[in-house]
Amino acid sequence: MPIHQLTVGDLTCTVLNDTTTPYAYDPATTDMVGAPWDEIRAALDDLGEGPTGIDAMNCLLIQNGEHNLLIDTGVGDNSRSHLLASLAEAGLTADDIDMIFLTHFHGDHTGGLVNEAGEVVFPNAHYYAAEVEWDIWLPRSPWPQMSEERTEQFKKGFAPLKDRFTFIEPGYELLPGVTVVDARGHSPGHYLAHVHSGDEQLLYLSDTLLRLPQFAHPDWHIIFDVDKEKAVETRKAILKRAAEENMLLQVYHLPFPGLGTVEQIGEDAYRWQPLA
Ligand SMILES: [Zn+2]
Repeated sequence: MPIHQLTVGDLTCTVLNDTTTPYAYDPATTDMVGAPWDEIRAALDDLGEGPTGIDAMNCLLIQNGEHNLLIDTGVGDNSRSHLLASLAEAGLTADDIDMIFLTHFHGDHTGGLVNEAGEVVFPNAHYYAAEVEWDIWLPRSPWPQMSEERTEQFKKGFAPLKDRFTFIEPGYELLPGVTVVDARGHSPGHYLAHVHSGDEQLLYLSDTLLRLPQFAHPDWHIIFDVDKEKAVETRKAILKRAAEENMLLQVYHLPFPGLGTVEQIGEDAYRWQPLA
């Protein structure tokens, strides 16, 4: 399974692909709901996108020689999840992961924590997330991107982990040089990880945006954005900062490895430049 390794100052960062799934640009099934379909299709044409794109899930491993920090865990679906194979490519097993930061609790970011037998996948991990995610999503069924059956099975393994969680706020330092950033909107406790070491930086964008047309149209939201106005506000602010600082970004759902930068092309409009 593909992995992509880079260093950010003293930290080793490895993008771990969990899934790469074809994504039909189809008005009947799209999760892009922020504009009439003809406008979205025109934006896709501008980007050279045909009838089908890619929906990937790209997690991030950060290592400092002492800790192995995993950010998000993929969807945990036996038929298409390859996170553990990607981790093996990086020379690690699930037992080696001692810290897990969950950017939010949607099923495509947490599903990999509990396997389809209901067992905890990372037995030695301590977990970090916003407390509101626990409060809001735990009682719900189904979770976004999980079936009702899978949600119930997942929760049986997940709920007892509460005493292994540290609930955190923006600004929390997960590791020296890895800081939690507020990006609420997509979910009430949606947080990002800012990796900064020496004069290098990487911002793990998680689901601040999901689809390519949202760079040029950050006001187009996604069906899974819980607070759509807040998500738009957050998206604009983060893209502005990323462009100003020419920051390397990792976008969870873009084609592997989901790394690139943004260039401002208009007011609240940006162009994605994937890492070559
Ligand atoms: Zn997601």
